[in-house]
Amino acid sequence: MILDGREVSKNIKECLKLEISKNNLNPTLTVIQVGDNESSNIYINSKRKACLEIGITFKHLKFEENIKEQELLSEINELNNDDSVDGILIQLPLPKHLDQEKLLNRIIPSKDVDGLTEANLGKLFKGEPGFKPCTALGIITLLKYYHIPLQQHVVIVGRSNLVGKPLSQLFLQENATVTVCHSYTKDLAKYTKEADVLVVATGHKHLINKDMIKKGAVIVDVGITRENGTIYGDVLKDNLEASYYTPVPGGVGPMTVTMLLNNVYESYLKRH
Ligand code: NDP
Repeated sequence: MILDGREVSKNIKECLKLEISKNNLNPTLTVIQVGDNESSNIYINSKRKACLEIGITFKHLKFEENIKEQELLSEINELNNDDSVDGILIQLPLPKHLDQEKLLNRIIPSKDVDGLTEANLGKLFKGEPGFKPCTALGIITLLKYYHIPLQQHVVIVGRSNLVGKPLSQLFLQENATVTVCHSYTKDLAKYTKEADVLVVATGHKHLINKDMIKKGAVIVDVGITRENGTIYGDVLKDNLEASYYTPVPGGVGPMTVTMLLNNVYESYLKRH
């Protein structure tokens, strides 16, 4: 059975849209982009479309590739102090000459709707309320929507700050038993075969196949690889004997965008 991220997102977005229009709210998201990365353009467009769909004002600040770090820091300061802005998001990756961590951490935590500042990641680690990274939150929301029990053995392949690490914390908060694998893990299949819930977030097309999965497991495929106009996940779905799995595209991706909308909405409510 498919974990239909598009359908779940649609339902959540309809609820958000109704709340926003019914109560005459005006949440605003500002996205900062540096340079003209093709994937970033695609992601920003889908965020713009989703915001406009439900009544969130979307502002896009696009800067030249060679912008100085200090200039960007000043822009972020301004947005931090601008009462009409509820959420600030820096589209990653940034060009190499910019200190990504420094720039992310300049965002005031109350507007950090991507949940990537040290302040919000620290809160996540301690189990305190704060904005959570959208992909990790989207995965938990999707699994809960389908009433999938989380107090099971969860294996996460990938340990990035963006996906794997925050997700491991969210699963721990749900009392899952969590194993995290990475590129140094020897005999990956030994671990993936043990998973009741397997999350794969590596960006390696078809790293996982049916022989590496326990029958009846729940599979969450986060990976996105674009090749000649086609999008592939990290899991080869052929003959998979899973009970549930997320398609690529249409699984985790839409949930990520929807959690961003939800965070902007929550930021607006908290700030007003
Ligand atoms: P990173 O490149 O930052 O991290 C990849 C992780 O996978 C690393 O921890 C790496 O290990 C691990 N890894 C790489 N190769 C292997 C391997 N052969 N075996 C085991 N582990 C491996 O990527 P992200 O976490 O940012 O993203 C991962 C994927 O998810 C990408 O395809 C990205 O496009 C996609 N993505 C999708 C989103 C969505 O909304 N659907 C949102 C965010 C990301 P090590 O740490 O040892 O290097």
